[in-house]
Amino acid sequence: MKSAQELVASARNAFNNGKTKSREFREKQLQNLLRLVEENELEIMEVLADDLKKPKAEACLAEIAYLKNDVKGYLYSLKELMEPEYVEKPLPNVMDTVLIHPEPYGVCLIIGAWNYPIQLTLSPLTAAIAAGNCAVVKPSEVAPASAKLISKLLPKYLDNECYHVYNGGVAETTELLKQKFDYIFYTGSPEVGKIVYQAASKNLTPVTLELGGKCPVYLDDTVDVESAAARIVWGKFMNAGQTCIAPDYLICTKDVETKFVEAAKKKIKQYYGENVKKSPDYCRIINNNHAQRILKLIEGQNIAVGGDHDMSERYIEPTIITNAKPTDPIMQNEIFGPVLPIHTVKNAQEALQFVNSREKPLALYCFSNDKQIIDLFLNNTSSGNFLANDVVMHFSCETIPFGGVGNSGIGSYHGKFGFYTFSHKKGSMLRSINKMGEMMQGMRYPPYTENKLQT
Ligand code: NAD
Repeated sequence: MKSAQELVASARNAFNNGKTKSREFREKQLQNLLRLVEENELEIMEVLADDLKKPKAEACLAEIAYLKNDVKGYLYSLKELMEPEYVEKPLPNVMDTVLIHPEPYGVCLIIGAWNYPIQLTLSPLTAAIAAGNCAVVKPSEVAPASAKLISKLLPKYLDNECYHVYNGGVAETTELLKQKFDYIFYTGSPEVGKIVYQAASKNLTPVTLELGGKCPVYLDDTVDVESAAARIVWGKFMNAGQTCIAPDYLICTKDVETKFVEAAKKKIKQYYGENVKKSPDYCRIINNNHAQRILKLIEGQNIAVGGDHDMSERYIEPTIITNAKPTDPIMQNEIFGPVLPIHTVKNAQEALQFVNSREKPLALYCFSNDKQIIDLFLNNTSSGNFLANDVVMHFSCETIPFGGVGNSGIGSYHGKFGFYTFSHKKGSMLRSINKMGEMMQGMRYPPYTENKLQT
């Protein structure tokens, strides 16, 4: 395996030679990336089953179909995205051409996550390619089958000088972070996000940090509780809760809690059958450490639904917890597993205060048929994204930026926002120069005589 230094040098050489600049080159690479996904769908599903026992439907929806749409979107809009934006001109610039020129940063580092290991690695790469960058990709070692497939397929489909895969764990990530990159795009936990940010600061490298945290769901009594449960249970237990924008905990009144627990119990049975462990539609926890971590969060809690587990399979049943104290670890740490605690409040105002007393989440969900309540949360909270009356679904709406704020991240991507993330917006002014024009410029040159003073 080539060293991190050699890979960056190869990519930098290609970038400096202008290889990635033309639209034709970018389109070719995007078409190749699309072929990579299309021609290897079965193998992608297999590695996702190996790593997470991910059901085919979830693999198709959240990884394969998502990626194909992503790439196709860039292929469709690349010409327009690459065009400079001609902007309004102030009076002194009427004779100039004033524009914003999107310029690729250069060599990017993309560190992927393990929960959607194909999509969360290749989707940022798609945006980096569209924007004309070279890249070194570091798949998550926590999903080894997916990481191996990425390192097998990428060199077969993409340009071998411009795009590289570097596999490994903490030591290899640390080695990569010692290199000088022009952009770093990291998906993972806030803790490691801080390490990445610190490493980036040494070279003043700009970053996008797609992080996590606890995503709250507020549910009031104006909503049909069965419909709400259908959506919340789906979003929570998909991928066995290992989704950065999964509902982390529910906030509602005691009355709504009772109704929700009953409705959720029915939904779990409807989705996964009497015995969830036997369901082909339910994932496993990625590894023993994470399974132990999740079980520890449940310890001593009041289990209203589920609670069963089988460590030999890294199986944890969909579980709902009531009466968790705000100071309990389950209400302090991101759960990232199939456990939904419920925190009860007296009213929407108290729920709002609870949300605002904590770190800014990656997503905030509010279920209500009262527009005033939706507006109350939308206008008085801060979160990466906000979604009313559903969970997770904003992820696939590429016309809005996806990303965190505060502890849940820096920057965003998806659709044109991904292209701009990987582009420096170079404000440019194109002037002409000749003797006639120069006569008009006299006012700015010394000596600064009295008639040149103007405020
Ligand atoms: P992680 O932060 O533990 O690890 C991810 C990467 O960081 C790996 O490549 C690993 O090698 C590296 N790493 C770990 N420790 C390191 C260290 N000390 N020094 C240098 N590198 C180190 O994250 P994870 O467990 O893969 O992901 C879980 C988190 O990611 C959750 O918080 C989740 O919410 C978040 N997440 C966010 C998004 C998003 O789009 N915002 C998507 C998926 C996951």
